[in-house]
Amino acid sequence: MGRVALVTGGTRGIGAAISVALKDAGYTVAANYAGNDAAAQKFTEQTGIKTYKWSVADYEASKAGAAQVEADLGPIEVVIANAGITRDAPFHKMTPQQWQEVIDTNLTGVFNTVHPIWPGMRERKFGRVVVISSVNGQKGQFAQVNYAATKAGDLGIIKSLAQEGARFGITANAVCPGYIATEMVMAVPEKVRESIIAQIPAGRLGEPEEIARCVAFLVSDDAGFISGSTVSANGGQFVV
Ligand code: NDP
Repeated sequence: MGRVALVTGGTRGIGAAISVALKDAGYTVAANYAGNDAAAQKFTEQTGIKTYKWSVADYEASKAGAAQVEADLGPIEVVIANAGITRDAPFHKMTPQQWQEVIDTNLTGVFNTVHPIWPGMRERKFGRVVVISSVNGQKGQFAQVNYAATKAGDLGIIKSLAQEGARFGITANAVCPGYIATEMVMAVPEKVRESIIAQIPAGRLGEPEEIARCVAFLVSDDAGFISGSTVSANGGQFVV
């Protein structure tokens, strides 16, 4: 059995591709999800990957979930904080609820996911943390004040964790996907999607597997000296 990897939001979209890529690379993968039992069941049937239901927005549930994964599979050595949501609205129409839901999932959710696992990584002197941020956290986005704030905040988290984890053999990095062909993006009206693609120099959406391969490299032994970095995978849409 390989190292145990936890992927939050690991049953659909980018997270599902990450779960599969890590399994193919020899990791024992636990895929977390929030509530879509049908999608999780289908994912397990297709991949054989074990799934675990809890909301990353809930600290106690995240702590109990991580403990359950460790009881079932062994110490979590790799964690991919991927779960994320959007609640888009122009700022003047954004409700406090839309703001808070996105903060709770995309920003506090990263704290809730990594914090319970961190002490074990420090003790074992090995760990890999990857957060899935977004191009929109790097550049901002109309109608995404909440989302962009969380994704920019996620970059602050990994830069700080990189400094705290370094002498314990723990790396922390972020991947900032551009627009990727998942349900989240395919749900927008076709006209809007066409205008999005027009802004991408590569002339296409990214594939979830292209993000998964970045993650697989960042958690590998070969990437042991890479920490605090941001990998932009956006088809040239935004150059930092
Ligand atoms: P999807 O909507 O396709 O999948 C989201 C996954 O996250 C699902 O497994 C879902 O579980 C899970 N999830 C949502 N909320 C929670 C929660 N509170 N607790 C636990 N799991 C949760 O998303 P994508 O694959 O498109 O996005 C994945 C990540 O990549 C997100 O962080 C997103 O912000 C980021 N990203 C996506 C881009 C894109 O173009 N798609 C671009 C840039 C960044 P369930 O199935 O139960 O709902």
